[in-house]
Amino acid sequence: MNRRARFLEVLGVSEEWVPRHAPALPQDRTAEPDVAADLAADVAAEPVAAAVAAPPEAPAAAAGDAAMAPPSVRDRAGPEAAPRPPAEIHPEIRPEIRPEARTEPRTEAPPALALAPAQPAMPASAGSREAVIAGLDWAGLEARVSGCTDCGLCDRRTQTVFGVGDRQAEWMLVGEAPGENEDKQGEPFVGVAGKLLDNMLAAVGLARGRNVFIANVLKCRPPGNRNPEPDEVAQCEPYLRRQIALVQPRLIVVLGRFAAQSLLRTTTPIGKLRGSVHSYEGIPVVVTYHPAYLLRTLSDKARAWEDLCLAREVHARAGAKA
Ligand code: SF4
Repeated sequence: MNRRARFLEVLGVSEEWVPRHAPALPQDRTAEPDVAADLAADVAAEPVAAAVAAPPEAPAAAAGDAAMAPPSVRDRAGPEAAPRPPAEIHPEIRPEIRPEARTEPRTEAPPALALAPAQPAMPASAGSREAVIAGLDWAGLEARVSGCTDCGLCDRRTQTVFGVGDRQAEWMLVGEAPGENEDKQGEPFVGVAGKLLDNMLAAVGLARGRNVFIANVLKCRPPGNRNPEPDEVAQCEPYLRRQIALVQPRLIVVLGRFAAQSLLRTTTPIGKLRGSVHSYEGIPVVVTYHPAYLLRTLSDKARAWEDLCLAREVHARAGAKA
């Protein structure tokens, strides 16, 4: 048994990141199983994961306690719920998606989806900051974010992190806030967690910048990677709202507890948000774990795969972008 296999055995997880009861993949994507296996290899070989993973004598307890993680690699997600059985197609995606989600006509009739209701956002009053942001085009929005000083996070940032990817993408990924590497490079999800995210995207046939747009709730790094304050979220959220309105994605995948609770305006634990199809402005939303959390909680890779399978199913049912 090689070193990696022994390491995973000690942690009580499988060496392979294999989809359980996952929907069949398209025939022309024969490389996907290798991508999924590579994800497991990436995670297993990652020194950060080894440094903060659960101690061998108590892996289950550590996996369920995000507060035990060091602040430098703390997750923005937490496994608050008990393990759930794998779901090939969640029953809640059967009924109906709201037709007002998109303005352009569809070329095909989408199968119905059921969207869990989200708390409505406060409407922007005419002339307000929110209304001004809501009227910006891409260039105007990018310039406004770049020079934004509307909350205290501007003081210690290296630069804003606007978002990256295909601005006409069908998939939009939303995380929490820039970390240290993102603050330096100006791009969301770089470094080890970014590599894992790229592998997760590859496992469902996606790639950064190709039919995917990636953004964060916050555009500036909270000092020391602390949790964002409510007023910071309130100030920055109109930027994300405008980004979503401009991209008009078919599907939003939210990464981590904080982003999920911010976007969906709820305090429901991520364990209870996973596995259901939620709604943001009429757009289906699927919640999964933050890659940084998965780096130190290998046992939840299977759940993340379930979430990606659900997301792929929801996207397929929403139909191709017109
Ligand atoms: S976090 Fe958002 S609202 Fe605060 S300064 Fe940065 S861009 Fe502006």
